[in-house]
Amino acid sequence: MITPPVLVPTQVPVGAFMLASMLSAQNIQTILYDASIEYFHFILNQSPQQFWSASAQRRAQKAVYYFQNARYFQPHLHRTHINNFHHYLSQWSTQFEGWQVGLTDISWSQIPPHDPAAFYSWLYKGSRTPFTDYIHQQLIPNIQNYQTSQIGISLTYLSQIYFTLELRIALAEIDIEPYIGGALIHVLDNQTGKTFNFDGLFNRNLPSKFKFLEEKSTSRSPIKFPLALPIFHRPFRDYFTPVPIVPFPLSRGCYWNRCLFCPDQDKPFQKYEITLLEKFLQEVTDLVGDKQIIFNICDSSVPTGPLNQLLPFFKSNQAQFYGFFRFEKTFLNLDYLQRLYESGARLLQFGLESGSQRLLNLFQKGFDLEVADKVLNLSQQTGLKNYIYLLFGLPTETEADREMTLEFVQKNHAAIHFLNLALFNLPKFCDISNHPEKYHIQLVDEEKYQQPLQLYVPFSSTDGPIRPRARDFIQYRLQKDPIIRQIVKNTPARVRIDHAVFFGA
Ligand code: SF4
Repeated sequence: MITPPVLVPTQVPVGAFMLASMLSAQNIQTILYDASIEYFHFILNQSPQQFWSASAQRRAQKAVYYFQNARYFQPHLHRTHINNFHHYLSQWSTQFEGWQVGLTDISWSQIPPHDPAAFYSWLYKGSRTPFTDYIHQQLIPNIQNYQTSQIGISLTYLSQIYFTLELRIALAEIDIEPYIGGALIHVLDNQTGKTFNFDGLFNRNLPSKFKFLEEKSTSRSPIKFPLALPIFHRPFRDYFTPVPIVPFPLSRGCYWNRCLFCPDQDKPFQKYEITLLEKFLQEVTDLVGDKQIIFNICDSSVPTGPLNQLLPFFKSNQAQFYGFFRFEKTFLNLDYLQRLYESGARLLQFGLESGSQRLLNLFQKGFDLEVADKVLNLSQQTGLKNYIYLLFGLPTETEADREMTLEFVQKNHAAIHFLNLALFNLPKFCDISNHPEKYHIQLVDEEKYQQPLQLYVPFSSTDGPIRPRARDFIQYRLQKDPIIRQIVKNTPARVRIDHAVFFGA
């Protein structure tokens, strides 16, 4: 099971990890091959050339040493190391015209990933990409050493398409026809209403022993797939964190599933069977041994019922955890929050989105700002840290709404440790794009946005240029505010949440 570059280099990729664990539990020997983390190490250890300086490379290696060995991260030092690493990647990228390899993304100015057919034809001209050397010098020889003929490629982001297509050609040269799957392919299946396979380039017909993976559950009863550890091609210590972060979800879909701008509304909600999950987490904990471990509970929204069942496990194993929560009334209880902290919770992520109750109600976020205010302040009393996500530029947003968001953060700044500021992108399929008139918007109806690989679409608003106004507000109003500027400065750049958990521990 291969995960293509680039993914954030801080933890094993969750989708492939869970799938590989399901296969392993069926006695199908499965190797989880995180090509993304290996790719970063490949870039890091290349001999200096004219494209990058030896000093930039040394600074990048020092940065990785810091990420892997610091007891905790200091914001200013962390920022310097992140910038040094990113600077080296930028220098390294200059040998490939128009390409930019980053810590969390890769882009190419000449052919966008939305046009895989054009990119595939370009590859056939024998063109060299930032991946060519890695694929031929390291990945393919390793695959040959494993002596496997069955390879699955798991895709999460559009930018991984570049690598996937190049790998497809390299695998054909050794007579391997890979399968593809993953979150991105699931979205593309839904958008196109058929089995998406890049116009026949990839095999989607799984052999019979894998067919159980395709069974679609129609009930809300718990998912009962047993899980067992796969073989990890790269050890946990390769990731850019001081202790291993292991991701796992308690559920699929989102138990709330009502926010109107959510692109994931088609996913049915299902919990995992907790006893099976606990057994699996024990295996992971035993693998790490007596070292500290942090679990990233990576549900879209962590359901507290299943979480409560796991708290004794976390506590007895002295494991820590973090995850994405909703502002539920359950959290209006200091004793409960204290229990979470004592069981290993360190960081709670919340999608606040806006300080305007009107907008929250309009888009069905399903919580009151009064509750959010109290939850944040109670949670920080226990030692928990709060990571808040704001979303500007929602349809119908006014200057007054934005000011309310600013006021909310100012008022609660002592309880907000990290901030993520984002501009709204309109998912191609969601309630808002399905009923644009309800939200005073019009979709830009150009042909290129009809292509299946366009996951988001531009829009104009009859209320005026909301997006540019929101962008200006973030830049000239929000970030100029000394309180907010300080929170943003203390928020880890680029890698964000997976490093925030190590800030000032
Ligand atoms: S809480 Fe998050 S995942 Fe759940 S519906 Fe809202 S936006 Fe989607």
